Amino acid sequence: MDKELTRRGFIGCAGGLLASVAFAGCAGNAGGDSAKDGAADDTTNDAAAKGSIDYMALVNKQHALPDDWEANVDLVEEKSLLYDDPVKVERKAYEAYQALKKELADEGTFVELDSCYRSVAQQQEVMDEFTKEYGAEYAKRIVATPGYSEHHTGLALDLFLVIDGEQVYLNEDMMQHPEVWEKVHAKLGDHGFILRYLPERKLITGYSYEPWHIRYIDDPSVAKQIMDDGVTFEEYLNEVPENIAGCKIEYGTSDLYAESDIDATIDTIMQEFNSWDGCKLLRFAYAGDDACGAEELAYVNSLRKEGTDEFGQAIVLVTDFHSPSADKAEGTAWEPDTDYEGYTWHLGRTDADGAWELLTMGYA
Ligand SMILES: [Zn+2]
Repeated sequence: MDKELTRRGFIGCAGGLLASVAFAGCAGNAGGDSAKDGAADDTTNDAAAKGSIDYMALVNKQHALPDDWEANVDLVEEKSLLYDDPVKVERKAYEAYQALKKELADEGTFVELDSCYRSVAQQQEVMDEFTKEYGAEYAKRIVATPGYSEHHTGLALDLFLVIDGEQVYLNEDMMQHPEVWEKVHAKLGDHGFILRYLPERKLITGYSYEPWHIRYIDDPSVAKQIMDDGVTFEEYLNEVPENIAGCKIEYGTSDLYAESDIDATIDTIMQEFNSWDGCKLLRFAYAGDDACGAEELAYVNSLRKEGTDEFGQAIVLVTDFHSPSADKAEGTAWEPDTDYEGYTWHLGRTDADGAWELLTMGYA
């Protein structure tokens, strides 16, 4: 592994099933506000020559970084506590972060910067390295597509915690401190930040819950409204695809699978569902541990392609959906304008690190 791959943020991804924070959504942005003294240095000395950026720009798996962004984003940097390379953040976002950090510290809560700005070129390098090391399929699953990461904006910050003087930066460790994150999240809006990847919203944001990934949108009144309403940025901007609008994920309770394991089925299932022209998803639910036992595992293994590795885990999801009106339903298997309930999806994977594969779907 080369040095880039051994960096903490990247390792998290490489080893794990959870798509890392680092690759998930962060990009960089530019501001062009007044320079402030402080820990940060200018990465350019001609901030005034920078253009303006749209602090409300949406960058996600469907919306690419605007073309002129990288030329206009005004980045500042500070020495990283975790990596050799400095952390880069858009100037106004950095100033807002400093104010947030100080206010939190005054109350005994300590945050630091993990991964922030990453250029499209850097993301491409990471993609290339992972492709070389682990193959294209794994790389595409783990690494955000270059150009489609919110970290390109410079407005997305991954925080880590310092608790009793100890740095807490591994995703699974940070997840153990919900009461600390609650204090952090309560102050975001006042400083123009929002929480980007809310719990139970992977259908909408494309990412599982990440308490550490915050996004600067500049206007505190808008940020406070978004935080108070508990909505995603996509919902606020009215950019939720129509075929999933209003659909919530029902995780239920499980001894077999965590929320993230269930989330990991979404991309695979939605790739198929999105091809059903005009169908609207109403419900997306985990079928429960009883449906995912030895019998189901044997079933998905019976559907496995010859010569592929045996599945060690099976999962069943249940969806309700509404079929399209007559013109779009014509030539499909759907009765027009009808609610379909309890439609099941059967997936298998080799182990917790493997990708879910869709074996079959329909009515059992
Ligand atoms: Zn992030």
